[in-house]
Order: sequence, then C-alpha cells, then structure tokens
Amino acid sequence: MSENYTGGCACGTIRFDIAAKPVAMNDCQCRDCQRRSGTGHGSYLTFASRAAAKLTGEAKEWDVTGDGGTLKRHAFCPACGSPVYLTFPQMPDLFIVHAASLDDPAMYKPQFVLFTASGHPWDAVGPALQTFERMPPRAAAG
Ligand SMILES: [Zn+2]
Ligand SMILES: [Zn+2]
Repeated sequence: MSENYTGGCACGTIRFDIAAKPVAMNDCQCRDCQRRSGTGHGSYLTFASRAAAKLTGEAKEWDVTGDGGTLKRHAFCPACGSPVYLTFPQMPDLFIVHAASLDDPAMYKPQFVLFTASGHPWDAVGPALQTFERMPPRAAAG
C-alpha cells in the first residue's frame, strides 16, 4: 500500500507524488505567509529530499525573502494560481508542500506554529501546538 504524499493544485495541472515522510509539519503566521495565503497563516509539510518528490506539470516560480531572512522560492500553478510547493535556494534538498494541496489533507498533523508574534486574534492557534514567536528550529517552512 502506498503511503506517498500525493496532491496538487486546484485545477490538476501541477501534481506531486512524494515517496518520503515529512521531517516537519507546521503552521506559519509570518506576514509573507499571510499575504500569500490571503488568510492568517500557511500550513506546510517539509521533506528532506527534493529527489523523493515526483512532479508533473510546469509551475511558475517567484522568490521572496521571508521574515526570518530565508530566501524562499514559491511555486504556483499558472493556470489556477494555487500555491503548491516551495523550495529554499540556500537549502536545495528541502521540498515543502502546502497542507491543503494534499489529496488527503488529514495527513497533515501540525507540530508547531512559527511567527506567532505576527498572528492575529482571529486566527487562533491550536492549544496543543508548540509555538515560536519568530524563527525556530531548522528545516521548518515559513
Ligand atoms: Zn492549477
Ligand atoms: Zn511564514
């Protein structure tokens, strides 16, 4: 039975199939994630091996430096505009997908929240989650 993490964009043009387990799953409330998601936070699964991810379809990419100083390369579908995955040019092995892109979003089990310092009262954080006001452990997306 396959336990791959599969998913893609809203229109199906971009698909990913990742034969690995995530090394981190986290929400992020930094301003970059807020602007890009259009809501209070982003939700991410981080994989340690870019090579474990099979991609179909051609994403468009753009770069931004996050609140934590990390250069992030966001990939989105040019047809429907959904954000699908991101990479860190300075840490090229990492591969990060958005939780709601998963075919089975229940596979996302958030462990912690980053940048709660910029979180909003209307975007409540789960009480069981570990929180970090800003930048956190390595290998986490935000
Ligand atoms: Zn699409
Ligand atoms: Zn963020």
